[in-house]
Parts: sequence; C-alpha cells; structure tokens
Amino acid sequence: MKRRIKLVQQILKEKGLYRGAIDGIFGPLTRRAMAQIEGINPILPITRQVTRFIQISAKERGISIGPIDGLWGPRTNAGFLELEYRLKHGEPQPPWRPDEIEVPNPNRWPVQRTREFDEFFGARGSQIILVDLPYELKLSWDLRAKVRRTRCHAKVADSLQRVLQKVKEIYGEENISKLHLDHFGGCYNERAIRNGTAWSMHSWGIALDFDPTRNQLNWGRDRARLAHPDYHEWWKCWEEEGWISLGRKRNFDWMHVQAARLQE
Ligand SMILES: [Zn+2]
Repeated sequence: MKRRIKLVQQILKEKGLYRGAIDGIFGPLTRRAMAQIEGINPILPITRQVTRFIQISAKERGISIGPIDGLWGPRTNAGFLELEYRLKHGEPQPPWRPDEIEVPNPNRWPVQRTREFDEFFGARGSQIILVDLPYELKLSWDLRAKVRRTRCHAKVADSLQRVLQKVKEIYGEENISKLHLDHFGGCYNERAIRNGTAWSMHSWGIALDFDPTRNQLNWGRDRARLAHPDYHEWWKCWEEEGWISLGRKRNFDWMHVQAARLQE
C-alpha cells in the first residue's frame, strides 16, 4: 500500500497539487490533493481512492487498465507496474514477451541439436580455446576466485569478446559489479543439461552462465534478477550478436546465454 501511495503522491506532485513528502503515508496533504481529482470521491475508503487514482492515471497515459472501478485486479496491478516504470525511467517498459523480442543472427549461429549445428561446431569439446575477457569476472561459487580468461569454442570467441566489451562500455565496471554481471557461472563444461539427459550447450563451449545464485534454473521473470529492466541493455548486447537467452525466450534458466538458436 505504501508503494501505491508513493506513486499517487508523485503524480499529484507532477500535477502541482501536492507539495508534501513522497513518504507513502496518506496524510492530510495527500488527502486534500486527492480531493481535487475529478472522479475521486473523498468519502471512499483510502484503498479505493488510491486504486481509482492509479487507474485514472494509467488511462490518461494510454495504458490499458480495464474499467475504473477502484478494485485492484491483475490488470490494475500490471497498469500500476507500467506506470511506476514510466515515472522512474521516463519511457514505457521494454517488451518482454518472447515473441516480441527479435533476435537477429549476424554470426549465423545454427539451431541447437541439428545436423547443421554438428557441422558448424563439430564434436563436443573440439576447437576449445582460451580467450581474454575485457573485464574481470569472479566465480559465483567462490567470489574470491578472479577470472580474466575463459575457455570457449573458437567460433564464438570474437563475438563473445565484442559482447563483453560493449557491456563494459555501456555499464562501466562499477555497475557491472553492482549488478553482479561479473558473477560468472562458467562456460565450457562437458555435461548433460540439468534435470535432463541431452548434452548441454556448455559441452561445446558456446554457452555462459551469469549470476546463478540470483537466477536459479527454475525461476521465472518474477524472481530472476536478470529479468529486471536494469538488465535490458545487457541482453541487447548479447542479442545484437545473435546469442539466445533462455530466460528471455523461454522464461527459465535466466543465468544462461548461448550461441545457438532454439527450435521454434
Ligand atoms: Zn547454462
């Protein structure tokens, strides 16, 4: 409730109706400002007023919200999150539905588990080379262990370096560290996929994991940190090079990114 009232206060402030603190407390100043909004009945319970106001504000900005009924349902909740995002970032939320995310394929990565894939990358564990990383990573399971190089497939090495170089330019090392983008879960590792029998893309050295602690295998975008809007640019860096995020495309295993396309 506090978070909702804060949003209300922020919008009232923008409208020039409120000069108090953005503290999430529905005090006399907030109450008075609210009473000046058309469509808000000050006799209503505070929760109803707040909900109606959020619905009205969303609608004013063209956010689809359903009826203005003062009742907090899933549509109102989605509208609220969108509204909150726009106030913070000054623009609509980037798309997150997998079919809205277009990933180009400039390096012509093959589709995983196809004959084309085998021809492109060869046998598991072949053509593995050591590459320098543009900034220091640390092992997620032992944060004292610094990583300046990693083993990967020779065919993805240049692309991998370009991605991380771009990440470094966009985020800077301070934010990389703050966002745990340097928490590395590994690249080349010959093993089966977790909870499965097929070989993991890690077995060819064409997949990497990041921040596994906060992006656990079965977590969806409601829990996985890498699904947060702060990481939008991060994913764009990978996707510009054709890499596929299982999180972005399948909404699980958000730690994982790979240089192979998925079967549609
Ligand atoms: Zn992985």
